[in-house]
Amino acid sequence: MEPKKNKRAIVTGGTRGIGRAIVKELAVCGSKNEIYSDVAFVYNSSDEFAQELISELTRENLKVVAYKADVSSFTDAKNVVDDVIDKLGGVDILVNNAGITRDNLLLRMSENDFDDVIAANLKSVFNFSKAVTPYMIKQRYGRIINVSSVVALIGNPGQTNYVASKAGVLGFTKSMARELSSRNINVNAVAPGFIETDMTKNLNETQRELMIKNIPLGRPGLPEDVAKVVRFLTSADADYITGQVIAVDGGMTM
Ligand code: NAP
Repeated sequence: MEPKKNKRAIVTGGTRGIGRAIVKELAVCGSKNEIYSDVAFVYNSSDEFAQELISELTRENLKVVAYKADVSSFTDAKNVVDDVIDKLGGVDILVNNAGITRDNLLLRMSENDFDDVIAANLKSVFNFSKAVTPYMIKQRYGRIINVSSVVALIGNPGQTNYVASKAGVLGFTKSMARELSSRNINVNAVAPGFIETDMTKNLNETQRELMIKNIPLGRPGLPEDVAKVVRFLTSADADYITGQVIAVDGGMTM
């Protein structure tokens, strides 16, 4: 049975950028029949941003809990999920959004930069998905959305580590979708293009202009552009969608 109200969501990387917009979208803007009032988010180090977000949402009487944890740690993920189930009474939605970049040309890329990116962007998806699935299988309901990137579809020089992690997320998404479909657990991915966040703020003017030239809609995306698609994928309107990758990129990769 699909829960109609008070779905419980976990969003990784909720303090900034796309994850922060997803937390707000799920908590505040759930559609009439689906009130996502209970959201747990995970972050790495931004205590101030976390506190600010908690204050903003609790002012509106929304239930929100924050976890300072490392998504690349299997133990941290399990502890977070166990505690969320305890505090919120369960988990219906998981958004694997946390991610990092450590860009460099392959010739100059260190082993640590490769390993760190794979751990934060790909192993994290394994960690949290594995922790929530026993619970979701038991309740026969779950919606998992993984945040990949358009570069997973087209490649990008200087990002072999990041692109490998994000392409891995797509393969993981499709395999998990096939494994869990019979249990009413839908698994999808979104692939954002060029979105205005801290991750992209260090591009210089020339790089920005070049990116925008390649976007048919002629502008960078906002975190909210991605968050709305994530909310759609968690809603009953998307009940017949699983194993898909939705590019949110202003047409960049059409
Ligand atoms: P962002 O602004 O840099 O925010 C990253 C978030 O992830 C922060 O909340 C950060 O927590 C958290 N995080 C990072 N490493 C973590 C760890 N080890 N453990 C726990 N939390 C961790 O990034 P963004 O631009 O919003 O990107 C969000 C996702 O979208 C990422 O997966 C990214 O790869 C993907 N994406 C972004 C773009 C883009 O153009 N921005 C395009 C395609 C895909 P703290 O605040 O505590 O550091």
